[in-house]
Amino acid sequence: MENCLFCKIANGEIPSKKAYEDDTVLAFYDIEPQAPVHVLIVPKKHYTSVMDIESADQALLSHMIEIAQKLAKELGVSKDGFRLVINTGENGGQSVPQLHIHLLGGRKFGWPAG
Ligand code: AMP
Repeated sequence: MENCLFCKIANGEIPSKKAYEDDTVLAFYDIEPQAPVHVLIVPKKHYTSVMDIESADQALLSHMIEIAQKLAKELGVSKDGFRLVINTGENGGQSVPQLHIHLLGGRKFGWPAG
């Protein structure tokens, strides 16, 4: 989608530090990391938020989770644990209106989230 920051990163218009890429998904390191490991997993197709996901897109969400598992292993956080986050809308703290999963690890997180 035009004027979408993460779509521009996904199509290479804006550079990023890539962690994983295939035909449907790009994962890259967050520019303002909140943990020693902080990667964003983003679909190449535009979805403003998780609320845009329909039944036909379920395979994409599963694929994004698979990539999170793979990266958690590769980045050494799968044993100690990690957090996957999908911020949604204003109250959810979403600042970039393109669906993305945060993979956060390498430190302990509190609950409830602030
Ligand atoms: P959210 O607040 O859930 O929408 O998350 C957006 C995330 O994108 C934040 O953690 C930002 O630090 C991150 N971010 C914003 N711009 C960039 C960028 N150009 N490259 C990498 N991460 C970014």
